[in-house]
Amino acid sequence: MKPLLEIRDISLSYHTIEGETPALSHISFQLMPGEFLAVVGPSGCGKSTLLNLICGLTEPEEGQILMNGTSPAPGDSRIGYMLQKDHLLEWRSIYQNVLLGLEIRGEKTADKLTCVEEMLHTYGLGKFRNARPSQLSGGMRQRAALIRTLALKPELLLLDEPFSALDYQTRLNVSDDIGRILKEEHKPAILVTHDISEAISMADRVIVLTRRPASVARIVPICFSIENRTPFNSRSAPEFKNYFNLIWKELQSYDADFSCPKKISPKDPT
Ligand code: ADP
Ligand code: MG
Repeated sequence: MKPLLEIRDISLSYHTIEGETPALSHISFQLMPGEFLAVVGPSGCGKSTLLNLICGLTEPEEGQILMNGTSPAPGDSRIGYMLQKDHLLEWRSIYQNVLLGLEIRGEKTADKLTCVEEMLHTYGLGKFRNARPSQLSGGMRQRAALIRTLALKPELLLLDEPFSALDYQTRLNVSDDIGRILKEEHKPAILVTHDISEAISMADRVIVLTRRPASVARIVPICFSIENRTPFNSRSAPEFKNYFNLIWKELQSYDADFSCPKKISPKDPT
């Protein structure tokens, strides 16, 4: 099987009047079709920079990024990008919000509208189509933002800490929801997160980055013995704790201040 995305030995430094900030150093990995990758690393190590390079917003100084053989360009329609803030517009209804991307691109075709209707219904927002964003819970808003992104039919989804603004309980529910939706839609994704448990529970492989300039410290394939793997079920799988400890120790060696959700200690990851 050919990889969907190839990151080949990329490096990037930011140049400002204050000087040079090396952000990424010789990063290589591949994403296979249908695969879910998570990227964890110390704060400020270059995770968002990496996603900006993958979606073509920035160009690497060295190395190459290929998606099905061609380099992504700014606004590349093959790639969907979801951020921490949902950026829903309060003056539009939920239905008008989820259609925003299609409207901007002039792609409100009958089949895409049908697909949006189906997603609203399947993912529990059918009754809220005429509601305003402020009438929805944080989790529902993130689902609406995801539907808006998926409506564009991207081949790859980039998620930059999309749950970090939510409280702990909501985050568990929303990451479970979104993990299921992406599996059902067979959507390959790269999730950047601070939360080791979130990475392990959602991803097929976790890429651990060093401190800045980030390089790949380790790639950890995640494999659970449980049936019906969902992000929520994965957290109680017997292997979960070992993966947590492995990644925790790796990150500790790069960043003593690596933040971990308060409820989780390395000895008790659940
Ligand atoms: P992360 O997402 O891992 O927290 P970022 O990719 O946002 O890290 O940033 C990596 C480093 O590059 C940080 O030290 C940040 O201050 C610096 N940086 C990010 N964007 C710019 C920019 N546009 N100009 C200069 N430095 C930047
Ligand atoms: Mg970031």
